Amino acid sequence: MERGQMFREMEFLFRSGLGALSAKSGGLLIDPRRYLMAKVPDTPENMARCLCGGCPSFPGEGGFFCAKGKSTKDITRKGCLCSDCQNFKDFNLVDGYYCADGRAGEGAQ
Ligand code: SF4
Ligand code: SF4
Repeated sequence: MERGQMFREMEFLFRSGLGALSAKSGGLLIDPRRYLMAKVPDTPENMARCLCGGCPSFPGEGGFFCAKGKSTKDITRKGCLCSDCQNFKDFNLVDGYYCADGRAGEGAQ
């Protein structure tokens, strides 16, 4: 097995274990995945996955807020599509509303 792939698989197993631990705690513990949050790489491929443009809370400009940071516009929270986004799943994001709260790893998770 190529070394990079082995590392990714080890990381996946580690994250999965922490996720299971959090689930077992019944929400009583702070989700430990928050402390392992990878920022979403600001790449064209990841940007193309972004669902913000179709979101009811979309502020009308910008997008890909989990990587780019919060919008300069005021956000009215009418729902967030982030949990349906492949970036949300691939990078183990937790919260959403990055347009209002800032990029993943800087407060918003
Ligand atoms: S997680 Fe949210 S902000 Fe990030 S790319 Fe997906 S829809 Fe856009
Ligand atoms: S970050 Fe979430 S709430 Fe904000 S525009 Fe994107 S999908 Fe909508």
